[in-house]
Amino acid sequence: MSGSGQSRPLTGLHLLLTYECNYECDHCFVWGGPSQTGTMSLETIEHILGEARALGTIEWIYFEGGEPFLYYDTLVSGVRRARESGFRVGIVTNAYWATSEAEAERQLQPFVGHIEDLSISSDAYHGKKDGVTCPDVAREAARRLGMPVDFISVAEPEATGVAGSFGKLPAGESAVLFRGRAAERLASRVAAKPWEQFDRCPWEDLRAPGRVHVDPFGYLHVCQGICIGNLLQRPLPEIMNDYDPDEHPIVGPLLAGGPAEVVRRYGLPHEGRYADHCHLCYSARRQLRDRFPEVLAPDQMYGPG
Ligand code: SF4
Repeated sequence: MSGSGQSRPLTGLHLLLTYECNYECDHCFVWGGPSQTGTMSLETIEHILGEARALGTIEWIYFEGGEPFLYYDTLVSGVRRARESGFRVGIVTNAYWATSEAEAERQLQPFVGHIEDLSISSDAYHGKKDGVTCPDVAREAARRLGMPVDFISVAEPEATGVAGSFGKLPAGESAVLFRGRAAERLASRVAAKPWEQFDRCPWEDLRAPGRVHVDPFGYLHVCQGICIGNLLQRPLPEIMNDYDPDEHPIVGPLLAGGPAEVVRRYGLPHEGRYADHCHLCYSARRQLRDRFPEVLAPDQMYGPG
């Protein structure tokens, strides 16, 4: 990595198979919803897998979204291609499709033996459909099929003593981070703190990311909406080799002094108090989108208006 001094290799690529989702959760980082646009073709997945092979350090490929089961045939084919390429594979889903035991098994059957992690969103934002608790039904079906499975959940904003998360949400409960739709819908529900306090990024390893997200347009995100290149325009090895975090227009100030430094560096107007680091970061980035359109992309990550 030129100039970055990165020693930890990139080992995970998380494919946002689609920005579409059947739900429209308040806490969603990526503004997933029924009216969102942007879905990967199988061709794009194959291109990404080729780039992952070329990099040589990728171990895990995750399929997430949005809700990846909305594009079931592409998901099944993508998972199989990823396995054939020698990667370990995981899926993150809200399990809306697990409407009965039989249906859940039918949906999961094609993945048996191909995935090593099924992460199911199960919290106050996800869950019941026509009286059926879909995540529970999906988890039981996965267990019957011998598939490794865990619940991931996001706590209510007011919950105390719940840690945030690093990377993909871990099994168990994580705190809301106020970025994406959560910044607009939920930030007012917690006590805000002075903006100067937010002097680091607590959640992402921006200097040496162990995993990054890639979206249907090829954008490579070190945090949702902060891009370090486009995989459909440049080879992944070249992007990672050229990544110089200190020189990156957003990552640089974040490393130097967190979201507060982004505000200072660009002289941005701001409120006196924010809900958390991500709230200030996201608010600052929204103001900088015209200045750094290829870095603070795509529109899907920044919501309407
Ligand atoms: S502070 Fe910014 S870069 Fe760090 S996790 Fe929050 S939104 Fe992402």
